[in-house]
Amino acid sequence: MTENTLTIALSKGRIFDETLPLLAAAGIVPAEEPGSSRKLIIDTNLPNVRLVIVRASDVPTYVQYGAADFGIAGKDVLIEHGGEGLYQPLDLQIAKCRMMVAVPAGFNYAAASQPGNRLRVATKYPDIAAEHFANKGVHVDIIKLYGSMELAPLVGLSDAIVDLVSTGGTLKANNLEAVEHICDISSRLVVNKAALKVKHRLIQPVIEAFANAVNNQQKAA
Ligand code: ATP
Ligand code: MG
Repeated sequence: MTENTLTIALSKGRIFDETLPLLAAAGIVPAEEPGSSRKLIIDTNLPNVRLVIVRASDVPTYVQYGAADFGIAGKDVLIEHGGEGLYQPLDLQIAKCRMMVAVPAGFNYAAASQPGNRLRVATKYPDIAAEHFANKGVHVDIIKLYGSMELAPLVGLSDAIVDLVSTGGTLKANNLEAVEHICDISSRLVVNKAALKVKHRLIQPVIEAFANAVNNQQKAA
């Protein structure tokens, strides 16, 4: 952790795209587009600021261990990670979606999810799913998947899935329907606790610029 440099952990895709305007508000412009570049370390217009491109679910880990000073991660990822070693000073209101329970259209979920019943649930989010069903008093066998959750109930791997939904298009295309809303999800700024102290002079202006940009965005919406 070099004292006068900043390393920012971001994932490719929607989080990167929606973070660009926030970075710009803080005066940070990436030298390359990670979608087209294969580089995992991307320079910026500022000589002391660089981006590292990691898997979305790995962002909290890089920041926790100080390999990145701060990063941007979905609340879904942060709940599963647990948040140790991280400050979460700002909800950036980007990459918004909802954590939902979904089942095949026509499946009698109300009956199947009565307290005391047993349900097989496939998900990338075992902790979120386990807590949700524990609160309902429903026993679950959690089947951990890493993607394409929608397939699981269609081939008899599970009764239900717990997954992120935005438009519902993927559910619909696979003849599934959302039956329960677990929580709203958006992306958060996560900051390494030691870096926030040691690099306060560098990090604080970025947090403030992000906060202003988020506020202006909310006003415009
Ligand atoms: P990978 O696609 O590499 O397996 P991932 O699925 O975790 O990783 P993304 O799909 O880019 O990566 O999702 C990154 C984050 O964006 C998620 O952690 C979540 O917070 C948010 N997200 C996921 N799906 C949606 C969605 N449909 N709409 C809005 N935000 C979403
Ligand atoms: Mg994905």
